[in-house]
Amino acid sequence: MYRSLVIKVGTNVLTRPDGRLDITNISHLVDQIAGLKAVGISLVLVSSGAVGAGREIMSFSEDTGAVAQRQVLSAIGQVRLMELYRQLFASHGLLCAQVLATKGDFRDDLHADNMLNCFRALLHDQIVPVVNENDVVAVTELMFTDNDELAGLVARMLQVDALVILSSVDGLYDGPPDAPGSQLIREVAAGDDSVLQFVQEKKTAFGRGGMATKIRIATSTASVGIPVLLGNGRKPNVLDDLRTGQWAGTTVKA
Ligand code: GLU
Repeated sequence: MYRSLVIKVGTNVLTRPDGRLDITNISHLVDQIAGLKAVGISLVLVSSGAVGAGREIMSFSEDTGAVAQRQVLSAIGQVRLMELYRQLFASHGLLCAQVLATKGDFRDDLHADNMLNCFRALLHDQIVPVVNENDVVAVTELMFTDNDELAGLVARMLQVDALVILSSVDGLYDGPPDAPGSQLIREVAAGDDSVLQFVQEKKTAFGRGGMATKIRIATSTASVGIPVLLGNGRKPNVLDDLRTGQWAGTTVKA
């Protein structure tokens, strides 16, 4: 069984097709995470959804620029998202904490060490760190490609036993995921970028990333010894498989 995990959850798992926060699914994910903590697994949640949560309650006049919109949406959305997480974790008797980071924080040793110390202190006290990119201050050109990249960096920093990336598909398919005849690829070897040929360019509705960055991050993370499990965050009890070791999605082997 894994003893330590980073679990990344994408916007499309956390929001409904119309963009509203999917409180039912978020609640189910928190229940599953609480279940993993109850059996002694140390874990960090990397959660997108701030921009989506902001979009639900805010609309802009036409003269607001794209960067300012992202900043405002994430600033108001992150508060909503964390308030929801706080309530849901509290219902399991758990504390959660907000950790916002930019790419620069990982490049600079002083900031990276300081962040690592904070993670260690939170995990030592059984608090669930909920990590997101600090979209409010991140400079567009220097942003993470998406939260998959951020999750990969956190997983390396903490040297966890596995990185779990949940999206709205079961994993990597050898064709379009919804086409009849497409098969789920159950295992990928570390560093095997040849599977990128199977990646469909189509991106899901609201998230920033896509399967291509997931596979790139997964193969590079696996090549430093951390297996990556791609799975469907909308499938009931998907995280229960982590206890049995029988992952139903795609496993990128370390
Ligand atoms: N940080 C963005 C948010 O919270 C999500 C980035 C991504 O889609 O990976 O909305």
